[in-house]
Amino acid sequence: MQARVLRGSALFVLRSCIMILTPEFIFRKVEAIRPEFLARQGIKALVLDVDNTLTADNSQVLEESVQAWLQEMRDAGISLTIVSNNTAKRVRPFAERIGLAWVSMACKPLPLGLMVARHRLGVRKPQMAMVGDQIFADRMAAGLYGIPCLFLLPRTPHDKARSVKIKRKFEPRWIKRYFEKGGKLYE
Ligand SMILES: [Mg+2]
Repeated sequence: MQARVLRGSALFVLRSCIMILTPEFIFRKVEAIRPEFLARQGIKALVLDVDNTLTADNSQVLEESVQAWLQEMRDAGISLTIVSNNTAKRVRPFAERIGLAWVSMACKPLPLGLMVARHRLGVRKPQMAMVGDQIFADRMAAGLYGIPCLFLLPRTPHDKARSVKIKRKFEPRWIKRYFEKGGKLYE
């Protein structure tokens, strides 16, 4: 009896881990997220990662296509805010440049930053989504918080932080699983 309960609990934890690590949607880049897609999913607010999501890792460059995308989201009535694991020194100038409120040192995959974001955005959980490029930060934080993640392929192949480089090694299996399950790449 006890062994069965233990086995059942272990299976539950394993299934939960698989669920919160496998992407639900994968986009080539942030610009591939279209207002029509968000409308179909009932998403009214996006929580944006910065590094390798809106720009290259640790870069302050704002590409025209990203600037246009941000405007397109605003025009479609989508609320936006930034939640990054990077420092205030890195996040603040970029966030201020694009006129968004921000949370730095969010410690994703912990969902604390997402709690702050939801409070700020004033939406219900099913109406918001995390947008980011890391399985073990963005996808996992969204899963733990119980909101969808619009997972992006990293904007560039370069990561500066050693911890990110290590985590990248474990990402392909979860991306592969998404495609094996019939997931498509949104371009
Ligand atoms: Mg990132």
